[in-house]
Amino acid sequence: MRSVDVIIVGASLAAAAAAKRLVDAGLETLIVEKLELPRHKICSGILSPRGYRFLIENFGPLPAQTLHEPTSCRGVTFHFPSMVSMPMDFFGGTTPHLHRKYSDHWAIQRSGAEVQDQTSLLSLEDHGSHVEVTIRKKGGETTTVRARYVIGADGPSSVVRKTLYPEYNKKIPWFFVGQKFHEIIDCPLDEEYFHFWFHPKLGHYTWSHARDGRQIVGVGYKRGDNFQRRHEYVKSYLEDKHGVKLKPADPDHEGCAENFGPSLINRYVLGKGNVLLTGQGAGFLNMIGEGMSCALHSGAISGESIIEAISRNKPVEDTYKRMIVSEIHHTTDQWNPLMIAFGRPHEADFPAALMALSLPDRIKVIKDIWNFLLLYKEFKWGRQIARASLERLFQGTYSSQRWW
Ligand SMILES: Cc1cc2nc3c(=O)[nH]c(=O)nc-3n(C[C@H](O)[C@H](O)[C@H](O)COP(=O)(O)OP(=O)(O)OC[C@H]3O[C@@H](n4cnc5c(N)ncnc54)[C@H](O)[C@@H]3O)c2cc1C
Repeated sequence: MRSVDVIIVGASLAAAAAAKRLVDAGLETLIVEKLELPRHKICSGILSPRGYRFLIENFGPLPAQTLHEPTSCRGVTFHFPSMVSMPMDFFGGTTPHLHRKYSDHWAIQRSGAEVQDQTSLLSLEDHGSHVEVTIRKKGGETTTVRARYVIGADGPSSVVRKTLYPEYNKKIPWFFVGQKFHEIIDCPLDEEYFHFWFHPKLGHYTWSHARDGRQIVGVGYKRGDNFQRRHEYVKSYLEDKHGVKLKPADPDHEGCAENFGPSLINRYVLGKGNVLLTGQGAGFLNMIGEGMSCALHSGAISGESIIEAISRNKPVEDTYKRMIVSEIHHTTDQWNPLMIAFGRPHEADFPAALMALSLPDRIKVIKDIWNFLLLYKEFKWGRQIARASLERLFQGTYSSQRWW
């Protein structure tokens, strides 16, 4: 049986960051990815300034192939039912508009780790001294590889997480996000921004932006609703209210399930024994669904935790739970109302943009945000967010009792 130091499941950004740390420390690291590389990843590709800094510092300047047109993004524009719009620029200038198929592959290659694509994780068994990982190459044999540690960087529907906590998927609400691509007849939405609607009638997550000469219209809602109907409604809303005239959608629409929610309420799944979880699989997701920067940072910390655990001969689970605290603060602070009001958890200045509005518009926006939040009432997150915010205020941190 082959033995390696670490197996990482999923050739994602979290994986690239973890692998970079491990390979730099001289550990034999194998990444297994179920799809053929470079693989497609549904994503808007809007990178936060923090994510951008991480990529440059760790992997170097981005090649042109890793970008979509327009190649950069200036910031985010929030739109409200009262027809107030608030553009907000990212701090520190524009960021790249990533083409995930190529950016992720580039980062994985730059990590220096060995990669086996078209290879799925089937199961894993933690024996204390090592983990036996069973994988299958598409159309090929099933093999078992022995690793000292495993990192699950396999995204929202993580199989690694399911192996450790089979009940988890039933415990959280699931959302569907889907996007369609349209040839543009006329689009007054500024293509330098990512556009997001705080509109309860449009859905839980509604967005639009330009990509490679087409306009994306995206909708997110509780799983079980009808994508076609939701999308049609948003498309006609954009036409009626914003003058966005689009041709019928091209055939290449796409969607996926999202575990949106855990980071709001300080619920993270960090792993067990010698198996760590990172990225969105662990629950890391920032405000308005920005998940790349926290995938990169949590991924790097998972790799660093393994190095630390080896060098100090300590259990990796405890080490990771200690070292990941800074990233949990960073992510959960983004949803913490006290931090939003009095701190600066985001990378675009929402309070300043709000104060730049006239007083009547400010009142409209606050009412609209409140009505939008009521859409989420059924998930009963409000009390949990309030409790987490008070913990952060009085204890300086969030409760680790809520991390698995
Ligand atoms: C529509 C949409 C738009 C988004 N827009 C943005 C945005 O603009 N900006 C932003 O920052 N974030 C955005 N996100 C979120 C972002 O894409 C994710 O948070 C981020 O990609 C999570 O990264 P990850 O490293 O955790 O895993 P992922 O990128 O999800 O990668 C997981 C990898 O694991 C592989 N895998 C899964 N199961 C197995 C298995 N059993 N065996 C082997 N491999 C496996 C998958 O094929 C995949 O390659 C968006 C998400 C969606 C759905």
